[in-house]
Amino acid sequence: MQFTLSSPRQVVVGGGVVARIAETLAAFGLRRPLIVSDPFMVSSGLIQRCLAPLEKAGVPVAVFSDTVPEPVDTVVTAGVEVIARGDFDCLIGFGGGSPIDTAKAMAILAAGGGVMADYKVPREANLAALPVIAIPTTAGTGTEVTRFTVITDTARDEKMLIAGLAALPLAALVDYELTLSVPPRTTADTGVDSFTHALEAFVSRRANPYSDSMALAAMRLIGANLRRVYREPKDAAAREAMMLGATLAGLAFSNSSVALVHGMSRPIGAHFHVPHGLSNAMLLPAVTRYGLQAALPRYAEAARAGGFAAAGDSDEAAAEALARGLGALNADLDVPGPRQYGIDPAAWEARLDLMAAQALASGSPANNPRIPDADEIKTLYREVWASGRNSQ
Ligand code: NAD
Repeated sequence: MQFTLSSPRQVVVGGGVVARIAETLAAFGLRRPLIVSDPFMVSSGLIQRCLAPLEKAGVPVAVFSDTVPEPVDTVVTAGVEVIARGDFDCLIGFGGGSPIDTAKAMAILAAGGGVMADYKVPREANLAALPVIAIPTTAGTGTEVTRFTVITDTARDEKMLIAGLAALPLAALVDYELTLSVPPRTTADTGVDSFTHALEAFVSRRANPYSDSMALAAMRLIGANLRRVYREPKDAAAREAMMLGATLAGLAFSNSSVALVHGMSRPIGAHFHVPHGLSNAMLLPAVTRYGLQAALPRYAEAARAGGFAAAGDSDEAAAEALARGLGALNADLDVPGPRQYGIDPAAWEARLDLMAAQALASGSPANNPRIPDADEIKTLYREVWASGRNSQ
């Protein structure tokens, strides 16, 4: 078996570590950062947690805070213009997955020019103009440790996966204290996103012993703490466990892959502007059930790690408990179905051909234990529509 492992050169984990941003920059000889963030980080004052230690260390700081949730190519282009006008030697992505992914994409586009669509998979994006230091404030996408960025092509309503070493941050500061203010809906969505990363990495055809160990550790942490952190947002121990789980899940899928859930999730995000973690959550029970028999022992082991099944359960019983348990988890986390979210049924049906084609083109479904064709993907989308919770 051959496989390649990649991760940032340094990942600093723990409550309060954001205060070490200046020493992290100094360790890499960096002095002129551009912080890439979002308007909420600025208006809420959270960004001060990053700015204050830099200012105290005498590091000059500029901020580009025009990023949007589920980042788009036009904002990346605007960010590249800011890079071109300034004199920066690194980018600090501060925020949820959206600002961090925007920072990664800016570094890639600034290096190679053209348009963002030029870099989507299967091309490898290996050249970055500037290194990225990632500081996540959600738990989370895991993007602080992954070799991916996800950017929407606004002209074509396509959420593009961009992969390569240029998308891998140089370093990450993983500080759960930054997540204490995340509202319950985003806490739930980002938490399910993390669990999906770990589960898909574990059942992926590209799994390896390293990604397996990261995925199992992540599923243990997330499975035991996701409901808790949704109900008790200020529970520091649960927040800490979720943050570590999200980062380990990122290492898992970055070194294995995501699979069918993510392949089908990106088109929902692009066409109907559903936050990424939420569209994953809508899909997770049905897509898991679809794949169960193709990798029963793997799904069973994931079920035990995530606390959906007991150690002594048979593989058959444990895998079944996972599919059922993910539906129950969605109910406990108040995950809406597509209709309840506000999607028009005619629009959903009208886009199914295109969504299925885009899901397949992303390559992610090919990593699934059971590989669907376009018709099966459409059937799954219809199932998700029919089974989704449609009233609170
Ligand atoms: P996000 O960054 O879009 O943030 C969602 C909302 O939460 C925003 O309004 C933001 O301001 C707010 N928020 C963030 N941190 C907060 C805090 N501490 N307190 C209060 N509010 C806070 O959401 P996300 O789920 O972190 O990121 C989603 C994006 O990440 C999507 O575009 C998705 O495709 C991408 N993603 C990337 C990877 C990767 O490997 N590159 C993996 C998974 C997802």
